[in-house]
Amino acid sequence: MHNMSIAQLNEGLRLKAFSSRELTEHFLCRISTLNPEINALITIAEDSALKEADEADRSIQNGAMTDLCGIPILHKDIFCTEGILTTCGSRMLSNFVPPYTATVVKNFKEMGAVMLGKTNMDEFAMGSSNETSYYGAVKNPWNTRKVPGGSSGGSAAAVAARLAPGATGTDTGGSIRQPAALCGVSGLKPTYGRVSRWGMIAFASSLDQGGPIARTAEDCAILLNCMASYDPRDSTSVNQAVPNYVASLNDSIKGLKVGLPKEYFSSGLNAEVERAVRGALNNLVDLGAELVEINLPNSHLSVPAYYVIAPAEASANLSRFDGVRYGYRCDDPVDLNDLYCRTRGEAFGEEVQRRILIGTYCLSAGYYDAYYLKAQKARQLIQRDFAASLEKVDLIAGPTCPSPAFEFGSKGGDPVAMYLEDIYTIATNLAGLPGMSIPCGLIGGDPVGLQLIGNYFEESKILNVAHQFQNITNWHNVLPLSVS
Ligand code: GLN
Repeated sequence: MHNMSIAQLNEGLRLKAFSSRELTEHFLCRISTLNPEINALITIAEDSALKEADEADRSIQNGAMTDLCGIPILHKDIFCTEGILTTCGSRMLSNFVPPYTATVVKNFKEMGAVMLGKTNMDEFAMGSSNETSYYGAVKNPWNTRKVPGGSSGGSAAAVAARLAPGATGTDTGGSIRQPAALCGVSGLKPTYGRVSRWGMIAFASSLDQGGPIARTAEDCAILLNCMASYDPRDSTSVNQAVPNYVASLNDSIKGLKVGLPKEYFSSGLNAEVERAVRGALNNLVDLGAELVEINLPNSHLSVPAYYVIAPAEASANLSRFDGVRYGYRCDDPVDLNDLYCRTRGEAFGEEVQRRILIGTYCLSAGYYDAYYLKAQKARQLIQRDFAASLEKVDLIAGPTCPSPAFEFGSKGGDPVAMYLEDIYTIATNLAGLPGMSIPCGLIGGDPVGLQLIGNYFEESKILNVAHQFQNITNWHNVLPLSVS
């Protein structure tokens, strides 16, 4: 059952080939066998999952079936779940049981999906390798000496290892697409404002966006149908009708213009990754697409602008963790200052502290204009580059990451080397555009991702192209040997 897609599992449940309880027990069993090695989950919600499965089975018996009724899924541990531990990968929230449930999680509940548990992640979603998690690194199922990517590494590794057929992730600078690429699965970051951020613990509020991770584009479409909604509780949620993302998957892509940014195929891109991506682009040509070279001349500004804006917003968002209201509190503080300093010093990891320092510095009176304001101007330029290109082409394609998965510890001492992991993904967050990574090759056993970027609210177009690509290729079906 674990090799079936969500669409196939839904069919199986409809035809009563198996029950949701059987399905849920099967995945829980895989989790208990494989998770001790992969470490993709922080919390396994066995009891509530079985209860939800029984409820789903009753609904199915009563004919109240939905596309996700009885389907087991996982949520990134950044989404608040009432009554269930929500850590955000941090010691700071290692005792936090939220009194409310995130809108995204609620949407899944309403459709009758079964939550198996919460996935491991980089602390407060800061990282590209999952090495910053307080709960230990997630291992890449393709090669357990290598990182799964981050920050949604737990979700991507869990889907790759078939611990669940689908999972949620969040993407601030690449955190859905980069781990999807490194783990050989499909992951979509929707347009900013498409998926509610209510109850999703904030990292950088103007960049954060939740999205689906699954094996296929079709499954991502099914998950996005559930995740996308207008939410009055999120002031940046866009009140626009949600299309049926499954309905357009089979449209022809003949005549579609696909732009290839010159800047995404330049030095810094691993030659074998480039070969795999070019091979995938030829597949798109076989399907009738036309490739057009484009320019995104301000691409080089995206990583520097991001590493001012994201830390600035993070420093403000993380000020709420003060040891007073909830979360970790240090022992025996002598006064208020000692409480703040020790609580935050003890419970935030090194990378989180680094970002808070950078962000506070960039926002301070003397440096605001020089750093923060300048970064916002660069953000405008990046946005304009995309707008100009997307007038000429329907979609933009390129690599998701400059290289395949790397070994644990290999970038540990060099934050900038780690930051460059997201060189091709960050710009879409700065512009608010949707982007997706789908598997398009293997290099010495390590997966490679093809990135597709669309115009605002054109997730359907991205998913359509991804689905057509998966109709004529098999990369999304290859299973990592260690977990077969
Ligand atoms: N790797 C980037 C960072 O560390 C992006 C993380 C993300 O998208 N959440 O900030």
